[in-house]
Amino acid sequence: MKLYSTNNHDLEVDFQSAVFNSMPQDKGLYMPTEIPVLDEEFLNNLDQYTLPEIAYKVASALLHDDIPADDLKALIDDAINFPAPAKKLNEETYVLELFHGPSLAFKDFGARFMSRVMAYFLKDGEQMLDVLVATSGDTGGAVALGFLGVPNTRVTILYPKGKVSEIQELQLCSNGQNIRAIEIDGTFDDCQALVKQAFADDELNAKMRLTSANSINISRLIPQTFYYFNAVAQLYREDKREIVFSVPSGNFGNIAAGLLAWKMGLPVKQFIAATNANDTVPRFLETGVYETRPSVQTYANAMDVGAPSNWVRIMELFKQDTVKLKELVKSYRYTDDDTVKAITDIYEQFNYVACPHTAIAWLAVEAFKAEYPSAEDTFVFLSTAHACKFPDIFSEEMAAQVNAPEQLEELKKKAKSATHMNVDFEAFKAFLLQEV
Ligand SMILES: *Cc1c(COP(=O)(O)O)cnc(C)c1O
Repeated sequence: MKLYSTNNHDLEVDFQSAVFNSMPQDKGLYMPTEIPVLDEEFLNNLDQYTLPEIAYKVASALLHDDIPADDLKALIDDAINFPAPAKKLNEETYVLELFHGPSLAFKDFGARFMSRVMAYFLKDGEQMLDVLVATSGDTGGAVALGFLGVPNTRVTILYPKGKVSEIQELQLCSNGQNIRAIEIDGTFDDCQALVKQAFADDELNAKMRLTSANSINISRLIPQTFYYFNAVAQLYREDKREIVFSVPSGNFGNIAAGLLAWKMGLPVKQFIAATNANDTVPRFLETGVYETRPSVQTYANAMDVGAPSNWVRIMELFKQDTVKLKELVKSYRYTDDDTVKAITDIYEQFNYVACPHTAIAWLAVEAFKAEYPSAEDTFVFLSTAHACKFPDIFSEEMAAQVNAPEQLEELKKKAKSATHMNVDFEAFKAFLLQEV
């Protein structure tokens, strides 16, 4: 697989360097130079394949011989070792549950695949890979659990003290092994600034092999295409053909993966990008003006992104043709009040408890149905996190319906361990250097 930078189409790198560098020097994003279309036979018979089979088919089409077949199969079996069921709520509505992985959020798909790809490319005897992550919550947990026990890697997570939820904090701080957490007496931005400074530090770079493993890494995007194909496979088994996906969007990585899948031949009628008050994309699709804004805090906090980093990838997929883009992608935005009401409506209509992000995706389905009615459509809204991660938002009755998954039970038995630190780069650097 060859990749170019969205800021420089002449730059070309191989998959391995795109994985380890995450982002080109010119601050563009890596995109595949060629997007293969999967064969008709496979696409027409998706219902015959399992999730790991689909994942292998899609990944091998993109990667070619970057990872030999048997190694790629083993890597996928290890990374994608949990299901992604499309649960039927009524005749025309399905919820695609992407939260059955270790961190109870869909980010497990990306983080687990990326960690294993990195470990695969680390040759025997090579210097250990040090992954630095700043997190405001969900990403850190997925990355930590993704790399947990992966040989020759070590993860250092910085998170803002008192600003992540109890469950999230345990996910960051209870791992041991090759995962270390630092509780910073500051904000998320302070954490991110410390990590950025570390990447720019000559001494650290000379002594350590640093990588950021952040959300724009191409190896996080690829595995997210798998579950779109697998959702269609499940719907084909029920003879549903006109499929509309609604994706709760923040950095727009999830929907970018859906659109990459579409380029590869995913049979899909429509995508809907659902956002909270951070509505840069819905405003762009309405006005044609792309204007980022500082993010505002909402209940669907993993979608609190004012400048969605994957948007440039989506524009590339459409070769900057906004007319075509607007045909395939509709977008709607919702307030916190809408979100809270939707959670109740979903519960009353379907006896289903949805997390705030998921509820926003359902609202967008309802809006789309009202705007473009069609009796043929089947709607799939993506559920990106398990409801148990947001205990405070539900009524007592609803909360009682949320069954605690095994991952949560295990987590609650564990002890929290983190290093405390002020916003002090020299202290952070000394911490990193003490065990090189
Ligand atoms: C990260 C996240 C999102 C947003 O996904 P993007 O790929 O950034 O658009 C939505 N919901 C949850 C629960 C998340 O953790």
